[in-house]
Amino acid sequence: MRFAIGEATVDIIVDDDDFGLPLSEFLPGYDRGLIEAHRDTLEPVFIDLARDLAKHAIQSFVIRTAGRTLLVDACIGEHKDIPEIPAWHRRRGSGFLDRLRAIGVDPAGIDLVFCTHLHVDHVGWNTRQDNGRWQPTFPNARYLFGRRELADWMAQHDAGRAPPIHARALEQSVIPIVEAGRVDLVDDGHELVPGLQLVPLPGHTSGQMGLRVDYAQHRAIFCGDAVHNPVQIFQPALSTSSCTDPQLARETRAKILAEAADSGRLVIPAHFRGARCAHIRRNGDGYTPVFDTVPR
Ligand SMILES: [Zn+2]
Repeated sequence: MRFAIGEATVDIIVDDDDFGLPLSEFLPGYDRGLIEAHRDTLEPVFIDLARDLAKHAIQSFVIRTAGRTLLVDACIGEHKDIPEIPAWHRRRGSGFLDRLRAIGVDPAGIDLVFCTHLHVDHVGWNTRQDNGRWQPTFPNARYLFGRRELADWMAQHDAGRAPPIHARALEQSVIPIVEAGRVDLVDDGHELVPGLQLVPLPGHTSGQMGLRVDYAQHRAIFCGDAVHNPVQIFQPALSTSSCTDPQLARETRAKILAEAADSGRLVIPAHFRGARCAHIRRNGDGYTPVFDTVPR
């Protein structure tokens, strides 16, 4: 799937298009009446109410602009130890890199890899297994990790406090990149190329950052897991059970939605299926997603 944001071309490379989580556990406190009122918008792509499922994609965004090729978020990867999620555990033959090549991008042609945060489903393809060692999948890329995000995870890891699924992701998909000398630590406000800037989106993790695109008439934000499922556009106060700081995540999401509604900014969360992105329209006191990719 491909769309344009001004002069930038965005291709979506899907790593898992049907990742379901129990709705009532993943989005605790969801307003069933609100969901039922918007069931036509949400089903069957984003939820399955009868089966208590929130449905997500795990995907990367390949942005080509200003002669550079960027990859935003690195999904699951292959051969990784993820026993908590059997479909991802020591997975192989996913076809992810073939789908990347099919859009004309060789792994060696990626200039920058940006991980919005360092959860297991955002770092996997950072590395690939080569003779029993984890090597950078994108040999010519600089990898952009948030300075605060990496420091926080390493502190948790070194103190033995990181949840095992994320501790292993650090060991298999993050630390090898640091040790290979491929990382640039970045802070809020960092400009990747003209018009593309990192912005803080704390709450889901302490150091999550988004990538904001600002061209003259075209605006977008790759917002990682600040918005996980369109349910949260109808009910912005709803944070996920995987958020480090649910209250802060709520505040961050409120800011994203208000600004997007006011400016016409396209919101591109990490895990939306279907249109993969949404414009945000005000609807009384709340918001409604508009699933088109044409800038207003
Ligand atoms: Zn995620």
